[in-house]
Amino acid sequence: MSAAGPPQGAKAPWGGSAAHEVASVGARTYRGRFAPSPTGPLHAGSLVAALASWLDARAHGGQWLVRIEDVDLPRCIAGADQTILQQLAACGLIPDEAPVWQSQRSSLYQQALAPLISRQLAYPCACSRKDIEMALHAQGLDKPRHGELVYPGTCREGLHGKQGRAWRFRTDAGTATHWRDRRLGPQQQDVANEVGDFVLKRADGLFAYQLAVVVDDAAQGISHIVRGEDLTDNTARQMLLQQALAYPTPQYLHTPLVLAADGQKLSKQNGAQALDTRTPEATHTALNQAAQCLGLQPCGTRDNRGTALAAWVEQWRATLQSATT
Ligand SMILES: [Zn+2]
Repeated sequence: MSAAGPPQGAKAPWGGSAAHEVASVGARTYRGRFAPSPTGPLHAGSLVAALASWLDARAHGGQWLVRIEDVDLPRCIAGADQTILQQLAACGLIPDEAPVWQSQRSSLYQQALAPLISRQLAYPCACSRKDIEMALHAQGLDKPRHGELVYPGTCREGLHGKQGRAWRFRTDAGTATHWRDRRLGPQQQDVANEVGDFVLKRADGLFAYQLAVVVDDAAQGISHIVRGEDLTDNTARQMLLQQALAYPTPQYLHTPLVLAADGQKLSKQNGAQALDTRTPEATHTALNQAAQCLGLQPCGTRDNRGTALAAWVEQWRATLQSATT
């Protein structure tokens, strides 16, 4: 992953590119979404992504959906989905359609995987993590990437009598994927080299996040993806899948991350505190912090939630318009 330039300023971070034409995106075409994983309640970092995606949809006069990304069931926590929906509602972030749950959409993912298999764009893989480690070590290439191993392509040309465990997407060597992030600017990644053939369906029978997201975004007609910067690195893989499945590629905006006191990304995994939405005052504070992270003017304590959100929509829209002129 590499960016061709630095983020374009702390102020108004989502603008910056005339390529993003607000005028061409009307109410009928803009569909955005917030897609939390129910591995715990929302925290300050996830509210930034939720608020940004909601503001971008509202500023475009578009629709905003919520999708519960519980495809990785073993990591999900019972009841977290309902907690998240309640937290969003307390913040005034109400989806325009009923939320969907990925765990109920496996048949859609299977329908997308089948043609990839028949076109030999997906192939079965028999490797355990240990097998992959050993193959990489034998090639002198055992550098992990964010803790993930670059798949060495062991099963590309067949299983040699072994039992397939997972399905992988066949990537093209030497072809970088390029895109322009609305905040981060030009991006590129050589998926074959940096990630390798990636998993579409896991050895435990669950569909991989990459496939589920791409299928759902297409099925739900998502035109704009606004999500946390920690997910930037998934974009190239998702674009390759969109191209293989003849889906349109949405526009991407990756929002700034909220850092914990130790400078690490704030996440459920490092014990980020659940967002406190138990009182209007606590909710106001949380929303104000998220807005400031997005470069928006904080609202005064006497502003109610609706007034604050409306003011931020106006600020967001003004930034979009200035980015196109
Ligand atoms: Zn393999």
